[in-house]
Amino acid sequence: MKKVLVLARTFGRYSHEPIVLLEKNGFVVERKEKIESQDLKNFEAIIVGVQKITRNMLENSSIKIIAKHGVGVDNIDLSAATELGIPVTVTPNANAVSVAELTVGLIFALARKLVESHKTLYEKRQFVSSIGIELSGKTLGVVGFGSIGREVSKRAICLGMRVLVYDPYVQEESLRQVGAEKVELEELLKQSDFVSLHVPLNESTRNLIDKRKISLMKKTAYLINTARAGVVDETALIDALKNGQIAGAALDVFEPEPLPSDSPLFDCPNLILTPHVGAHTFEAILRMNMMAAESIVDFFNGKIPKYVANNTVLEKLRQKGFKE
Ligand code: NAD
Repeated sequence: MKKVLVLARTFGRYSHEPIVLLEKNGFVVERKEKIESQDLKNFEAIIVGVQKITRNMLENSSIKIIAKHGVGVDNIDLSAATELGIPVTVTPNANAVSVAELTVGLIFALARKLVESHKTLYEKRQFVSSIGIELSGKTLGVVGFGSIGREVSKRAICLGMRVLVYDPYVQEESLRQVGAEKVELEELLKQSDFVSLHVPLNESTRNLIDKRKISLMKKTAYLINTARAGVVDETALIDALKNGQIAGAALDVFEPEPLPSDSPLFDCPNLILTPHVGAHTFEAILRMNMMAAESIVDFFNGKIPKYVANNTVLEKLRQKGFKE
């Protein structure tokens, strides 16, 4: 019997379907909240959420496949997995609509000061009206035009916004199809009323939005980060919010997570915080659950799983007789 360790908190939580799929295919499913190095010794597969998977853990394990429950693989030592011939699968597009809808929700919340208004009325019982701005006619800067950036752009265009995109790896034609314009990052920062981040965290994107980049933004602009915390220099953002250098920000992602209760972010004005809930909808969770389970089933049936993040292991799999 092959054993699958489930670390992703929402795997099988809201529907039995993914667990039934694994069990029907002969897997025993075990769940853990936290992981220690030695925990991977007795498992052939893991379904990972945000937990860190290190080289040491993998080298001392019997793991044959890692199924990431999501698309950001920055918590997994990808080069170690690749060297060990372990495919790391992802669930692209499963949560793109959910994250895009949260992003648009945060943009609305910032524009109309929804959280502040709610707190003033609900907690303080004060009927004080605040003045917001319309989104129609405003400019949204989208950094990273992958699955999520594209969905955000489409929605913003429907709202009458002009959309500027910075993504050096995407052809201009695919931006034009949704009505967005390709620009350099500095131009995007200077022109946008809202800047929304949708890049993966890697060496090229760590602290991509630093003190200097924030200084290029309009004083009236808002920053939204539903990608990864490391993409923004947190100290620079805190300074900018406290000094009124930008109008506000909304963050769904943090380093570390959970956000410590003494984080300086809690002292910032004009900041909306959500606890990494971008992909937390029933629809996205079920899609991610099923894609992760299917990749494990496919793999142990000798099929190359559909979405492998570390492509270079594919050749090794083919040599071992895995079929497309
Ligand atoms: P994706 O891989 O489809 O798209 C990422 C895009 O970023 C690609 O088009 C790529 O060309 C672009 N890119 C890469 N490096 C860049 C750089 N240096 N500058 C500009 N563009 C760059 O990924 P996605 O599904 O759209 O997800 C984006 C990120 O959102 C993920 O990596 C993940 O970290 C984050 N995410 C967060 C949540 C959440 O719950 N808040 C959920 C899902 C994903």
